[in-house]
Amino acid sequence: MRNLIDHLIGYKYIKFESVKKAFENVDRKLFVPESLQDGAYSDHPLPIGFGQTISAPSMIAIMLEALDLKKGDKVLEIGTGSGYNAALISEIVGENVFSIERIPELAEFAKNNLKKAGYKVKVFIGDGTLGYEGEAPYDKIIVTAAAPKIPEPLIKQLKIGGKLCIPVGERFFCDLIVAEKTSAEKIRKKNYGGCAFVPLIGKEGW
Ligand code: SAM
Repeated sequence: MRNLIDHLIGYKYIKFESVKKAFENVDRKLFVPESLQDGAYSDHPLPIGFGQTISAPSMIAIMLEALDLKKGDKVLEIGTGSGYNAALISEIVGENVFSIERIPELAEFAKNNLKKAGYKVKVFIGDGTLGYEGEAPYDKIIVTAAAPKIPEPLIKQLKIGGKLCIPVGERFFCDLIVAEKTSAEKIRKKNYGGCAFVPLIGKEGW
């Protein structure tokens, strides 16, 4: 695990102390299927079943740093997958982390992994393109699947001054966008460059 973290620091994917500590404290092995444990500390995405993946650590580090997560932030994640990213977020912000997964079996997988690792993330099954109105508004929203456009409900559920990190573009190849909500009607977008994600499937997705 140390080699992986040194790699992420060496290539400047990790610059913030809070993100470094999170990667040190969350063991990726606890979120990877048994048969793939040997690859747990490689900087690659790995299959988690149902055609889905746990993202590459470098990609996650870029997204967490771009969001500028702070202790006490209320965060919504769309695409729980294995629960690894949610655990990293929880390490940084605390217990106010909500995560939505559309595939029930993966939501169950993530819940078990998060429990084993000791994180109290609230995981829901549903279409995350609609956000999660029940806990809105959020300081930060992170989407870990590729969307054709930024879903309107997610912008609505963001606080003014809040940030949304989302891959937007083609079904698999897209740009990583961070949208900051500058007023009730306006967002300011910054492009963090090309990336590849599984598609965001749902009413406001593919
Ligand atoms: N964040 C995850 C982790 O740490 O393991 C990796 C997420 S994986 C790249 C993308 C996930 O998004 C998949 O588990 C997929 O089922 C989920 N997904 C796709 N569309 C969704 C939607 N509309 N609502 C919720 N989850 C969705």
